[in-house]
Amino acid sequence: MARLQPVRGTHDILGEMSLRFRTIFEIFRSVAERYSHEQIDTPIFEFTETFKKTLGDTSDVVTKEMYTFEDRGGEQVTLRPEFTAGIARAFISNCLQQSTPCKFYSFGPTFRYERPQKGRMRQFHQMDIEIIGVAEAQADIEVLAIAQDLLNELGIAKHVTLELNSLGDRESRMNYRAALVQYFSQHRDKLSKDSLTRLEKNPMRILDSKDEGDHLLIEKAPRISEYYNDTSKVFFSEVREGLEGLGIDYHIKDRLVRGLDYYCHTAFEFTTDQLGAQGTVLAGGRYDGLVEMMGGPRTPGVGWASGMERMAELITYDIIKKQVRLVAIVPVGDKSHTTAMKIAHDLRKAGIVVDMAYKGNVGKRMKRANKQNARFAILIGEDEIVRSVAMVKNLDKGSQEEISLLKLVDYLKENKL
Ligand code: ATP
Ligand code: MG
Repeated sequence: MARLQPVRGTHDILGEMSLRFRTIFEIFRSVAERYSHEQIDTPIFEFTETFKKTLGDTSDVVTKEMYTFEDRGGEQVTLRPEFTAGIARAFISNCLQQSTPCKFYSFGPTFRYERPQKGRMRQFHQMDIEIIGVAEAQADIEVLAIAQDLLNELGIAKHVTLELNSLGDRESRMNYRAALVQYFSQHRDKLSKDSLTRLEKNPMRILDSKDEGDHLLIEKAPRISEYYNDTSKVFFSEVREGLEGLGIDYHIKDRLVRGLDYYCHTAFEFTTDQLGAQGTVLAGGRYDGLVEMMGGPRTPGVGWASGMERMAELITYDIIKKQVRLVAIVPVGDKSHTTAMKIAHDLRKAGIVVDMAYKGNVGKRMKRANKQNARFAILIGEDEIVRSVAMVKNLDKGSQEEISLLKLVDYLKENKL
């Protein structure tokens, strides 16, 4: 029989990777909650329309990457390729416009049918931050500050650069769009097939193209900064001043766009040169038109998403939350089992992490204890039971001591378990 394999582009998360994920998530949660964000968990699948409508017909995600299927009732559903659409849908479904500003964080699996490679999976995980209902630049500054705090606390800020841009307001974008159409129309023959479609439907998306030929054209294309009106200029300078005030470094990158109609003003990416081609670890922006476009009330919003797998590659071993050292209970002789289980139970009730093997002689059990990197092994034989004591072996020091069962918890705690 062929070896059972997970589906291409999916991974089991276990062992050290699991500790990496947990470390990242715990730091993420703690930072997000310090900014008074609340957790929101939306379903991992939605009606396909939810994503199609919001991500746009020309985005790679919609045209090539969605996991869409018909369920048994004939509904078209899609596994979420990102969080914002689902959260905006939830904002509308739950009538949250009464409760703005809504400050959310979320975390979980996301799905895109991409060509699997390093840093690019079909099931991956994102952390997500959203502020819905705030039109002021403070919200943009705040979500960026959350991102920066996260990177600092994960110990990876030194490897990551914030690239920042403004897409301007609707008017500025429309003028820019017209300039792009004029420019790229003159070079139709050199554009990739995908970009020709983008030219018809959403020309700003061309700037996002990964095609080499397109890149040459993009270099000489008009720049958005030449099309900002006064409102756009003021908003962008507020964001920049805010970042400077908080000591957050950034680089302006005026080719950075998010090509969808509802994006405006702030757009950003945190990138690193440590991960090869897949160097974007966190990306986001302002999406003032999104909720309205989905059929909700006119509501501004800003947020970001970050790929856990890429973060997990970047963090170093010393930041990873260490597994708690455990105590191994080792019954000596068959008659000690029941008492040993009772002792294990009492220690667990006291909050101590305990493992007791299900079978094996003392030698095997000790071997297992060492393999698990146990701090102590507690040996309990009939003789110890009669005297209400246990033999406590300190596996780090190689020493041992007889301890009264009544004092066992205190002893283990005093010895910094
Ligand atoms: P890319 O240009 O790398 O395809 P993207 O623009 O599609 O990125 P976003 O939609 O902004 O990415 O998603 C936010 C973050 O999620 C990315 O910055 C990245 O860290 C992560 N991410 C996106 N797609 C994948 C994937 N297939 N596998 C792992 N992580 C991913
Ligand atoms: Mg992508």
